[in-house]
Order: sequence, then structure tokens, then C-alpha cells
Amino acid sequence: SSRPVLLKVRGLKVAYGGIQAVKGVDMEVREGELITLIGSNGAGKTTTMKAITGSLIMNDGDIEYLGRSIRGRGAWDLVREGLVMVPEGRGVFARMTITENLLMGAYTRRDKAGIEADVEKMFAIFPRLRERKDQLAGTMSGGEQQMLAMGRALMSQPKVLLLDEPSMGLSPIMVDKIFEVVRDVYALGVTIVLVEQNASRALAIADRGYVMESGLITMAGGGRELLEDPRVRAAYLGE
Ligand code: ATP
Repeated sequence: SSRPVLLKVRGLKVAYGGIQAVKGVDMEVREGELITLIGSNGAGKTTTMKAITGSLIMNDGDIEYLGRSIRGRGAWDLVREGLVMVPEGRGVFARMTITENLLMGAYTRRDKAGIEADVEKMFAIFPRLRERKDQLAGTMSGGEQQMLAMGRALMSQPKVLLLDEPSMGLSPIMVDKIFEVVRDVYALGVTIVLVEQNASRALAIADRGYVMESGLITMAGGGRELLEDPRVRAAYLGE
């Protein structure tokens, strides 16, 4: 592809105390791509995403974002530059309303009119949030909270959105809805890195995918290509 590289991860290592969770990961994400990262529980996917977005410190390696090293930079700082993660478990502000949560997502912005227009835009993408805009976030269903978490992240105008298991624990109908929304956000031009348990659905919508095992990338390729790979099918698609 001739699209510019937005994120370049080289030899990334991350440890928790003495435990090396990520052991030398290389990845590249180009502008406008939807990349998926799949692998079994404990493979190091979440750790990799947290290191990329500045909420965990790397032990070794480097990450370039927009052509510059972001090593050592913190999550708040990186959100300002458009590198934003929606963590698993969503982390919405339970005691704030939907609207207040969305506004919190815009904390880096000063353009009041733009922010208001974007709240409306989020309500257009997520009609359910409009219906409940004055409801406390903590009283919403898991799927609704996931949508709110994505909406809040979008309010910061991300260039790259990293989603950690957005369909986790949701009903089949909600899972469909979440995948639809991921595709909508991708269609808006936001670059996406998607970590998913639901490997077949993630690969089906991804431009490219990486397979992670025990802290290392073991396979990489086009979404379709990985979906049809017998090793991927045997290990992650239950065949
Ligand atoms: P899952 O799908 O289960 O979330 P994952 O691929 O995202 O898996 P990580 O959550 O990145 O994997 O975990 C990688 C390894 O690091 C695991 O062995 C895990 O037990 C360990 N680990 C994760 N978080 C911590 C922590 N805070 N302290 C110590 N070890 C951790």
C-alpha cells in the first residue's frame, strides 16, 4: 500500500515486574486501515495496545507515531495527538450522564461549537445514546456502555482508535451492532486497531491482521488471507 504509515512498532517489549508479557513485537499501521490483532487469552494483545497508547511503559523497542518516536509519552498527551484507546470493560463515568460522558471525551478541545456539533454527530451514529442522553451511564446495558465508550473516544477526534474487545460479553444482537459501528467509524476514515476474541468476524472486516502468541507476532497477512489460513482456522476459529 502507498498510504502513509501512522504507527510503526519495533521490537516492543513490556514486562510486569519479572514477567515479560510482550517479547519483541513489530507492527505497522497505515492511514485509513482497519487492523485486527488476534490471539489467545494472555497472548499480550492488551499489553501491546496499552504500551502503544502510553498507559504502560515499554522496556525496550520503539514506537513511532506520525513519524516521530513517542517512547515515554503518556496517554493524556497522546490523546491530544489523536492516538486513543477504548479499554476493555469500557470505563465510562458511571455517575455522569451520557451527554456528560461524551463531553469528557472532548477534554482536549476548545472549539465549543465543534464539540456541540460532534455530540450531535455521535447521537446520529448511536441513536440509542440520544434516547438516553440524560441517563446516568452506570445504569446502561453493557452494549450501550460500549457504544458510549466508543462515542466518547470519537469526541477526541482520534486519528487512530484502538479498541480492546469491544464485543466482549455482549448479546449476539449487540455484537452485530458493535461490528456495524466499527465499520461505520472505519468508513469515516478513522484508522482502527481492533483486538477481538471473535477472530472470524474481526478478520472478515480487517484490511490486515496480526496473530499474537506468547508475547510475539507469529503470523501477519491480509484479513481474508488469515481467515482462510488453516493454522488460523485450527487455532482461533474452532476448526
Ligand atoms: P486477554 O484476551 O485475556 O485480555 P491479552 O492477549 O490481551 O489477553 P494481556 O492482557 O496483554 O493479554 O496479558 C499478557 C500477559 O501479561 C498475561 O500472561 C497476563 O497474565 C499478564 N498480565 C497482564 N496484566 C498484568 C498485570 N497488571 N500484572 C501482571 N501480569 C499481567
